[in-house]
Amino acid sequence: MATALDLKQRLRSVFGHSVFRPHQEEVCRRTAEGADGLVVMPTGAGKSLCYQLPGLLRGGPTLVFSPLIALMEDQTAKLRELGLRAERIHSGRPRSESRQACRLYRDGELDFLFIAPERLGVPGFIEFLERCRPALIAVDEAHCISQWGHDFRPDYRLLGQRLPRLRPAPVLALTATATPRSQDDIAAQLNLEGDQRYIYGFRRENLAVEVIQKRTGARAAIVSEVLGDTERRPAIVYAPTRKETEALAGRLADQFPAAAYHAGLPTAERDEVQAAFLGGAIEVVVATTAFGMGIDKANIRTVIHTAMPATVEGYYQEIGRAGRDGKPARALLLYSWADRRTQEFLHGLTYPELTYLKRLHGALGDEPVEADELAARLRFPERIFEAALDQLRIHGAARIVGGDRVRREPPPTAGGSAADPVAKGRQAGSNGNWQRTYRAQRQHRLDQIDEMTRFADHRGCRMLRLVRHFGDRADSGERCGLCDVCAPEACLVRRFRTPLSEEVQAMSTVVSLLRRRDGLGTGRLFQEFRAVHGSYDRGAFEDLLGALGQARVVFVEEDSFVKDGETIRYQRAGLTPGGRRRGIDLAGQVLLPDDPPDEPAKRQRRRAAPAPEISEADADPELVEALREWRLEEARKRRWPAYTVLSNRALVAVAVVKPGDRDELLGIPGIGPKTVKRYGGALLRIVAAPGKADPK
Ligand code: ADP
Ligand code: MG
Repeated sequence: MATALDLKQRLRSVFGHSVFRPHQEEVCRRTAEGADGLVVMPTGAGKSLCYQLPGLLRGGPTLVFSPLIALMEDQTAKLRELGLRAERIHSGRPRSESRQACRLYRDGELDFLFIAPERLGVPGFIEFLERCRPALIAVDEAHCISQWGHDFRPDYRLLGQRLPRLRPAPVLALTATATPRSQDDIAAQLNLEGDQRYIYGFRRENLAVEVIQKRTGARAAIVSEVLGDTERRPAIVYAPTRKETEALAGRLADQFPAAAYHAGLPTAERDEVQAAFLGGAIEVVVATTAFGMGIDKANIRTVIHTAMPATVEGYYQEIGRAGRDGKPARALLLYSWADRRTQEFLHGLTYPELTYLKRLHGALGDEPVEADELAARLRFPERIFEAALDQLRIHGAARIVGGDRVRREPPPTAGGSAADPVAKGRQAGSNGNWQRTYRAQRQHRLDQIDEMTRFADHRGCRMLRLVRHFGDRADSGERCGLCDVCAPEACLVRRFRTPLSEEVQAMSTVVSLLRRRDGLGTGRLFQEFRAVHGSYDRGAFEDLLGALGQARVVFVEEDSFVKDGETIRYQRAGLTPGGRRRGIDLAGQVLLPDDPPDEPAKRQRRRAAPAPEISEADADPELVEALREWRLEEARKRRWPAYTVLSNRALVAVAVVKPGDRDELLGIPGIGPKTVKRYGGALLRIVAAPGKADPK
């Protein structure tokens, strides 16, 4: 139906673009042909074109669902500039204008009509659309439909139930931010036929991601130093609280034009900051996550997070604002373990305990009551009251009327609308479901904090990890070559050093263990490792593993399995083809993190950790036995005490590590060059074939 020529011609003649961006053509062609689809591409990728072009080719009006008035206004204006016929209906416009828009739509005078999902709940509107069906339905910001998305909106739920009445038009859902779980939810809710997904473009080729643990008190100075370099600006700094944005902006303003931005500022001031930033008068904005939606500034060089963000999706969105011009840009995340507690605290403020919601819901009635009065009666802490009310509303169990009055939703006695099967279905659904959906969403948010922690702790390529998070379908799977893991020498803050000889030994043990058991879970690997190198705690071990990953000796990847219906995530490590080669020069090849001491308490504990006894339980018993026999024999031959041939500890370590060559043997504590020279051959033979110990 839509030939490649048609598509290209329209792209040029209508939209004025000479070539398609990656994957746009595929989506346009299939959508024009009538296929449903889900587009997940990052902000700025050019998703709008994916419905606009096929909408025109299908020759009828395209109905676009959009969550925000500002977005509708913006899109309408842009389409009109191109000479297309676009209208919008929303609560911010006079009724007469909305009526006029309906008329134009009905008379076939429109190419695009933008509406908010809640419009479908307005009596008569769905019937109106049923009479004049669209040629294409686009659901923009489709993540709003999923309770797993970070911006769940109950009105989007109306879409799933009502879109079937507007068919047979194809439905194209679009979003910049949906994990595979949200994607499944969106596809299911919208009943997308064929489940065609276009998930592309999450790899950013010019963005270097750096992550470093820093205690809170040290972070402001780092931000100030990094951004002191003019080449690092313009920049956005994300800070967790309003207070912190103001404090940090104040400090930075001594060095260069900087300002704070958060939802607590008057609108006029916010607009002013935003305009000054876009225009270049302000070089650094220190903001809460409230900042950035719709910020189209191409030359942002740096995005810094001064604390752990709440979700990987949000984090990705935020760092994605850097380097839109394609020139090198950097993202720096400063975090510590303590951030997790902050996140959990913030989580509690947005997602109060279910009991609060239940009590509030119980206090609501059929008749609207003043919210303030209710708050006074229930005596919840103020923020908890607001959050609980907000959540009841989001989950369809309360409704705000006239701005400050509240009633239960749906009204318990609202049996009158039983004639509308959809309304009835929703009633039963929301009444029975709000507790379940709330609980699930609340837990999901906690899981997302975990996910973010895992990202920060990940020792593999950062960009690859992000790309996998979104389930990008066409990604190369290559390491980015830019992040702190791939390019340690280019880091802004992280520092590295060559390893000490004992560290080389320890790394050699890791390599030996992995040579035996490729793809080992890192937890298990640590246990086996610690049996030999007892002075290493988990953090020091992870540093080694990360360093080996950086040197491309080892790979570390995320994996998961399902146990009792729960997905358990873990990391696996294995040797790369390069790492499998014998005789790698670990000392010359590997760099270890050398960050200035940050959390002294932790470091001390690290050093003081008691060396555990090597546990024979970790060793292959047959091999231990074979080694003991050999040692006895050897001791008899030389008339030496057995322990001078090989200490117990070293013997068991050999059985745990199972060294594959002399270098690896040398990597075992208690085994020096002399031992290797004297017994190396014999030991390696026994390890290779313990059953045929033949000490010759
Ligand atoms: P998204 O919705 O994915 O965030 P938009 O659809 O708003 O992105 O597009 C971002 C910008 O890219 C817009 O300015 C748009 O005009 C531009 N754009 C889209 N497709 C192309 C193309 N094929 N060639 C050049 N510019 C394009
Ligand atoms: Mg968009």
